[in-house]
Amino acid sequence: MATVEIDALQKHYGRFHALKDIAFTVEDGEFVVLVGPSGCGKSTLLRTIAGLEEVSDGAIRIGGNDVTDLEPRDRDIAMVFQSYALYPHMSVRDNMAFSLNLRKTPQQDIDARVAEAARILGIEPLLERKPRALSGGQRQRVAMGRAIVRHPQVFLFDEPLSNLDAKLRVQMRAEIRALHQRLGATSIYVTHDQVEAMTMADRIVVLEAGRIVQAGSPLELYERPVNRFVAEFIGSPSINLVPATVDGRNLRLPAGAITLPANVSGGSVIAGVRPEDLRPAADGPIAGTVRLVEHLGAETYVLFGDEDRDLSLCWRVGGTPAVEAGDPIRLTTDPSRIHLFHPETGARL
Ligand code: ATP
Repeated sequence: MATVEIDALQKHYGRFHALKDIAFTVEDGEFVVLVGPSGCGKSTLLRTIAGLEEVSDGAIRIGGNDVTDLEPRDRDIAMVFQSYALYPHMSVRDNMAFSLNLRKTPQQDIDARVAEAARILGIEPLLERKPRALSGGQRQRVAMGRAIVRHPQVFLFDEPLSNLDAKLRVQMRAEIRALHQRLGATSIYVTHDQVEAMTMADRIVVLEAGRIVQAGSPLELYERPVNRFVAEFIGSPSINLVPATVDGRNLRLPAGAITLPANVSGGSVIAGVRPEDLRPAADGPIAGTVRLVEHLGAETYVLFGDEDRDLSLCWRVGGTPAVEAGDPIRLTTDPSRIHLFHPETGARL
């Protein structure tokens, strides 16, 4: 097991600056998830840690050793890819044993490690099959098995669940978490799926356009996003954002005012309220007309709009509220649940 230290990392592709001064440390045994929208640089960052991309500047240390200029095979890491990258002509057993064979590991050790990984992953009955005779979830397990047998210091995952259907994704993410708890290996996991990030991570690192915007526990990011970008990225359905003005503790929202817990310097702001933090109130300061009611069973998403201000908002409520499309709706929130952002920079106020 080992720490992974990323120190002032820069990556240029020609003139394009893909990673901008990236610095963070993954603690020994920690499960860190890198998230961000498409093109933010998360795969590039993972690939530099793996040694599959050269860095333009900065350093990468694994277990205190500078690995920046080492080949991937000398870094003591194992990577699980989105495509699984299994050899189609080899059995599951041979796929799992492949890297150990390359390293001339004694056959007895190989057999023991493959057997152990197959048992942990519940794929013992599949060892003699070829990859084409496996389901997507089974292939994913084999790809994990191939990483586990190496007993690496660090596991790297590049969107390993994105080729699976929704149900299997939920199941596999719990399995990967359970596996992490069992093996305790330092893990870095890339995804663009914020639900995966929230449910799997000890700590989330949010990237935007090649920079780290915020790093923290899932709850820290949810409760105190540093800016509008993180607030919108974390949480599903997305946070409601409404233009407002503030004067001391008085926050004027589109349909009324609310008293804030503390003074905020005056002017225009963007007020953020999560869909689950809204509740009905006769004189609520957030109002509109119901456009769509989505019943999910245990809960309901009520989508409503304010035509005059071109706002599309969402109220997330348990059970089945007695509202339908066309109804007027008025909602309020606990003032402590309001997030305020600068209207231009988006920074948290
Ligand atoms: P996605 O979720 O779509 O995979 P990502 O966050 O993983 O996105 P990267 O694949 O890391 O993004 O790419 C980051 C940026 O670097 C993108 O703008 C991409 O076009 C660019 N990029 C990646 N590889 C190269 C390359 N070999 N040459 C030039 N530009 C590249």
